[in-house]
This record gives sequence, structure tokens and C-alpha cells, in this order.
Amino acid sequence: MNSFLNKVAIVTGGNSGIGFATAAALAAAGARVLIVGRRQAAVDEAVAALGKHVIGLVGDVADPMTHDRVAETVRDRFGGADIYIANAGVNVIQPSEAVTQEDYDAQFAINARGVFFGVQKIVPLMREGGSIVLTSSIATRKILEGHAVYAGAKAAMEAFARSWALELKARRIRVNVVSPGPVDTPILGKLGVPDDARDGFEAHLANVIPMGRLGQADELARSILYLASDDAGFVTGANLLVDGGIALT
Ligand code: NAP
Repeated sequence: MNSFLNKVAIVTGGNSGIGFATAAALAAAGARVLIVGRRQAAVDEAVAALGKHVIGLVGDVADPMTHDRVAETVRDRFGGADIYIANAGVNVIQPSEAVTQEDYDAQFAINARGVFFGVQKIVPLMREGGSIVLTSSIATRKILEGHAVYAGAKAAMEAFARSWALELKARRIRVNVVSPGPVDTPILGKLGVPDDARDGFEAHLANVIPMGRLGQADELARSILYLASDDAGFVTGANLLVDGGIALT
């Protein structure tokens, strides 16, 4: 396993799913980790499960003030940061004809604006050799019904990443994207699929994924850790698909 000893990492959406698995893997590899989540009880529970090298901050990534508080906490507690994982996200499935301006703005505020200002506020505190990883989605290349706004917001963050990879090269900060396919996390329960249809929905997903199954959060965490690690020292501006091959279909 890559060593992250004495590295300082921030993981947004670190109380659940891919973010939780990533925070756990970073802490197990020696990093000190700040997780950011929007629900106090969920953040407290995650911090308790993740152990003494992990602290929590409750805030909404759609609110730019959250990112000021993250930066302040990182400065006060750790003096700087090495790794920033912009992972918090929501997926609201809606046909475009039903999307209101409020729906559109809400999804972009979390999935695009929240990423932009999270990175903007943390970059001044990042040390040379640092790494930023953004969690996008295969929805930006595999057209899925009802995903237009989600895919648009994720495409925006992919464009940010490519811009930042060049902007930050002088400081030796690498910026990459990981694009999950369907992964077995709590997000699947937030898509509006009725409980009694959930098994059928997951079976359908597994069926359309060439590898015949959903991904697991720890598989995504390992890919994120690779991009965050020195093993990926020559990798910047990349978009790593971790999707069981679904983007090929
Ligand atoms: P998850 O278990 O629902 O985790 C998402 C995390 O983001 C949760 O901690 C959630 O908080 C947090 N979050 C959402 N909105 C937030 C906000 N406004 N402020 C702060 N935190 C917020 O889902 P996941 O599957 O691990 O998702 C992680 C990332 O992977 C997301 O960006 C998602 O779009 C992306 N992704 C997932 C899949 C998949 O199939 N699982 C596929 C492609 C891409 P709460 O716990 O309070 O909701």
C-alpha cells in the first residue's frame, strides 16, 4: 500500500460511500484526514468509526463559507494540506422538461460550484507535490436518461480539472479526475427508486455493466489513492474511469 504518512488530506462527502472508504484508506495509510459532510450526526458517526487521525467538519459544499471554514481548520490544525478529494455530490434524476431553475442551480451548486470554490480556497494552503482528485461520473460520456443536469455539472468539474492541471503545474500540484460507474453506495438509495424495486434496479445495473456487477466503494478508494499518491507522479489532467467497462457500451 502507498504510504501517506504525515500527509494531510481533506475528503468532502467523507461520511458516506466512496468518500468514507477513501478517508478510511488514507487514514490506514498514515494520513491525517479532515472529512467534510453536511449532517452532524453522520459526520460524528464517521469520525468515530475512522479513528483518531480523522476529524470532521459539518458544512454544505454549496455554501462558499464552508470552504473558508475548511481552509481555516486546515491552517490551524495542520498548517497546510497535501491532498484534496472533492468527492461530495448528489445525483437528482429528472427528465429535462421537469427541471426547474431551482433544481438546476441546486445540482450545479453542489456538483460544480462546490468543487470550484473548495479547490480555490484550499490551493493556497497546499504544499508542493500535492494532489487534487475530483470525483466525476461516467455520466459525462455514457448518456443516461434523466441525467442531463448531473452530467452537465460533472462535465464542468472535469473541465475545471484540466484547467487546474496546467494552472498548478508550477507548484507541482497534480489534478486528476476519477469517474465511477455504478457503485454500491448509499447514493443508490437516494435516486428515488422505490424500496421494493431496488433489487431489480441493481440487478439491471449489474446486467448492463460489462463486468457483470456494481463497483464497491473500496475499489474507488484504491483508485483515488493511486491518483493521490506519488505512484501517479507523472499523471495530471487525467480522467480514470473505474466503471466495470460501462462507458464502452
Ligand atoms: P453517497 O454515499 O451518497 O456520498 C455522497 C456524499 O456527499 C455524502 O457524504 C453526502 O452527504 C455528501 N454531500 C452531498 N451533498 C453535499 C453537500 N451539499 N455538502 C456536503 N456534503 C454533501 O454517494 P457516493 O456514491 O459515495 O458518491 C460520491 C461521489 O461519487 C459523488 O460525487 C457522486 O456523484 C459520485 N458517483 C457515484 C456513483 C455511484 O454509483 N455511487 C457513480 C458515479 C459518480 P449526505 O450523507 O448528507 O447525503
